[in-house]
Amino acid sequence: MEEKAERRKKRVGIMGGTFDPIHVGHLILGEAAYLQFGLDEVHFMPAGNPPHKQNRAGRASDEQRVEMVRRAIASNPHFHLSLVEMNADGYTYTYRTLERLKAENPDNEYYFVMGADSLVDFDTWREPQRIVDAAHLVVATRNQTDPKVFESLLAKRRAQFNGDFLKMDTPNLDISSNNLRKKIRSGESAKYYILDTVLEYIEENNIYKQEETEEQ
Ligand code: ATP
Ligand code: MG
Repeated sequence: MEEKAERRKKRVGIMGGTFDPIHVGHLILGEAAYLQFGLDEVHFMPAGNPPHKQNRAGRASDEQRVEMVRRAIASNPHFHLSLVEMNADGYTYTYRTLERLKAENPDNEYYFVMGADSLVDFDTWREPQRIVDAAHLVVATRNQTDPKVFESLLAKRRAQFNGDFLKMDTPNLDISSNNLRKKIRSGESAKYYILDTVLEYIEENNIYKQEETEEQ
C-alpha cells in the first residue's frame, strides 16, 4: 500500500551488554542514542553467558542480571527489556541476533549502541561485516579516548566495512561494571552509579560479595 511505503521505519536502538551490573553509563548511553538519533525505542538486551560462565563466584547469575536490567529501565517508557539473547545454550552472536531481528521485523531499522572499547575490538567479533550490514553502529567515547584517535578509528571502521558508524555526543563516563563490582565487594558505596532499586536488589541477594574466581 502506498501509505505503508511512505511510513517511516521504526528506529530501534539495541543496547547490548553483560550488565553485571547495569549502571548509569548504560542508561545514559541508551537515552542519548534515543535523543540523538530520534529512536522510537531502545531495547536493553542482556547477553546470555556461555554455560562455563554461569554461576561464577562474585558475579550475578543470568536471572539476576535480567532482574537488575528490568529494575533499572522500569521508569523509562521507551526503554524495553529484550530476552532474545537469553537462552538455554547461553551465548549468542550479535550478528545472528541482529539478522534474526531484521528478518522478523522488516519494518524496523536497528541502531546498535556500543562504547569505544567495543569499537576497538570490533573486528575480532564474530562476522562483524554482517553486524554492519544489519544495523547502524552508534558509538560513545570511553576510557578518555583522545577525540582525534576516536575519529580516526571511526573513519577506519567505516572504510573497512563500508558501513554506518555514528559518533554519539556523550561525554566520557568513567564508569564500568568491573569497577563497581570491586566497590561493592569492598563495601564502598555505589550509590548514584547504580540506581537505588538495583542496589537494593544487589544487597538483598548478596551479589558481588565474593572474590571473583577468574578473569572476566
Ligand atoms: P565490564 O566492566 O564488566 O566490562 P561494562 O561497564 O563495560 O562492564 P558492559 O555490559 O560490558 O559494561 O557494556 C555494554 C556496552 O556498553 C559495551 O558496548 C560498552 O562499551 C558500553 N559501555 C559500558 N559502560 C560504558 C561507559 N561508561 N561509557 C561508554 N560506553 C560504555
Ligand atoms: Mg565491558
